[in-house]
Amino acid sequence: MKAKIPKLVGLTGGIGSGKSAVAECFADLGVPVVDTDVIAHELTAGGGAAMPAIVDAFGESVRGADGALDRAVMRALVFGDPACRQRLEAILHPMIEHESLRRVAAANAPYVMLAVPLLFESGGYLPLLWRSLVVDCREELQIERVMRRSGLDEAAVRAIMAAQCTREQRNARADDIIDNNGTISAMRLQVERKHRYYHAILDKSGCLS
Ligand code: ADP
Repeated sequence: MKAKIPKLVGLTGGIGSGKSAVAECFADLGVPVVDTDVIAHELTAGGGAAMPAIVDAFGESVRGADGALDRAVMRALVFGDPACRQRLEAILHPMIEHESLRRVAAANAPYVMLAVPLLFESGGYLPLLWRSLVVDCREELQIERVMRRSGLDEAAVRAIMAAQCTREQRNARADDIIDNNGTISAMRLQVERKHRYYHAILDKSGCLS
């Protein structure tokens, strides 16, 4: 029998909203997680498949001593230079998409979480989705969590948030929302509920048989 392609749930949320934490909870329930950020890092690691094309386009200075993309150098190059950013994205985005979909197709599960931080901003994955799932939390909490995690200061976190869609825009476009304003265990309960809900609608539509 031909294997079924899993349904895709696009997982997104602002920086620090708790996407990785939510993805981990789904993974604990046995749901495969394909994370476009993780794939981007793999592609630009030492020996990563995107490195030859990136070095070709931007020169040896973007390759760090360990062979991986030197993110600080690359950030400085693309900062304020949209053409440069577009050139980098034209190399990376098709490779990320190709690898993401390869992993989705290989997953043996009724549905897969596809984590895409800029799901609504970039829009490319939207036509492939079964549902979108937004991790929501208040802006002050986002800032506090990112500062604690990364050591960035408030201005730096706000600058990243300013390049993303607003909480209201994101929530308005979501099929489903996880409220991550509370504790990790409160979030975990919601993930378990969503997991049961996704299974129930897949079952009803005959996708589990
Ligand atoms: P994202 O992937 O959306 O950027 P993360 O999942 O990495 O966000 O979460 C950001 C930080 O906040 C991490 O250090 C994570 O452990 C922490 N965090 C996430 N959810 C909660 C929560 N409900 N309570 C407390 N800390 C949380």
